[in-house]
Amino acid sequence: MKTTTRDEWRVIVTLKPRTPADLGLTGLSDLAEFIACPVEPITVSVLPRRLGKLSAGMSVPDDVMSSDIDGSYRRRCDEIAAELRYRPQVAEVTVTCTETHSCSHCGLAWEVLAAEHVHDLRQDEFSTAGEPNCCDKAIAEFRTEQGIEVHGEGVVAYRHPDRPGVVLCREHGYPWFAQPLTSDDLPDGGVCAYKRSRLLGECGRDVLAVEAGERV
Ligand SMILES: [Zn+2]
Ligand SMILES: [Zn+2]
Repeated sequence: MKTTTRDEWRVIVTLKPRTPADLGLTGLSDLAEFIACPVEPITVSVLPRRLGKLSAGMSVPDDVMSSDIDGSYRRRCDEIAAELRYRPQVAEVTVTCTETHSCSHCGLAWEVLAAEHVHDLRQDEFSTAGEPNCCDKAIAEFRTEQGIEVHGEGVVAYRHPDRPGVVLCREHGYPWFAQPLTSDDLPDGGVCAYKRSRLLGECGRDVLAVEAGERV
């Protein structure tokens, strides 16, 4: 699943200074009135004060100050924006942040198959636009959400591609690289040998107990 983290909250301020004082060049009002503005607008980022910064030289971690760090930074930036928006030398203010999308399963950057690459970069014939490409779990989750039926009719299990003696259930035998099996291929039945973890051990699911056609 895609998880989004937000960071680097800031207020982008576009200035249109007209007088020297608008740029902090004060004390000239008797001598000067206007400035010649640069052709390109001046844009600066105003960074919010850190939530955990209590005073000069005294800081705590942000999460001590807020249980909703994103929301707190957003509110702080909104306040900065509201404060600056109507000043005469300010043309525009926008609150922004940097969003990073990653996979909740593997932690890698979240990237999806673009519609124009469905034919050249797809994992297999079940791939559709929007499918993540980081790990099998994310792909399986996406396909379940989209209602994409990847198990062929009557497929109850899969044979491990490199270890012919190993049978994997429909949850663990990722169909896009394993050989599908129907109940006819398993006259003696079969138990999923997928190793979940050292602690949990093997899956152990009786693959024939899963009704053909039913999704896991
Ligand atoms: Zn992933
Ligand atoms: Zn299994």
